[in-house]
Amino acid sequence: MAVFFVVEQKALSCPVCGSNKAEMMGKHVKLSGQFEDKEFLTTDLTVLRCVRCGYYMFFDDTAEFTSEDQL
Ligand SMILES: [Zn+2]
Repeated sequence: MAVFFVVEQKALSCPVCGSNKAEMMGKHVKLSGQFEDKEFLTTDLTVLRCVRCGYYMFFDDTAEFTSEDQL
């Protein structure tokens, strides 16, 4: 059962398929990696995944999300 969210009362919109339904994948997620020989670590992120196309969306942890029941 997916959980759906609205970002700060604006409709969430997937940049790939335009779906406004996404599943919460994690909060306070830090991503690390390497770019041109320098390692980096992001700040805490909230990760949502589009339920239609699977695209991952990353938001600053200060973003507010509210869940909506979908019946
Ligand atoms: Zn999508």
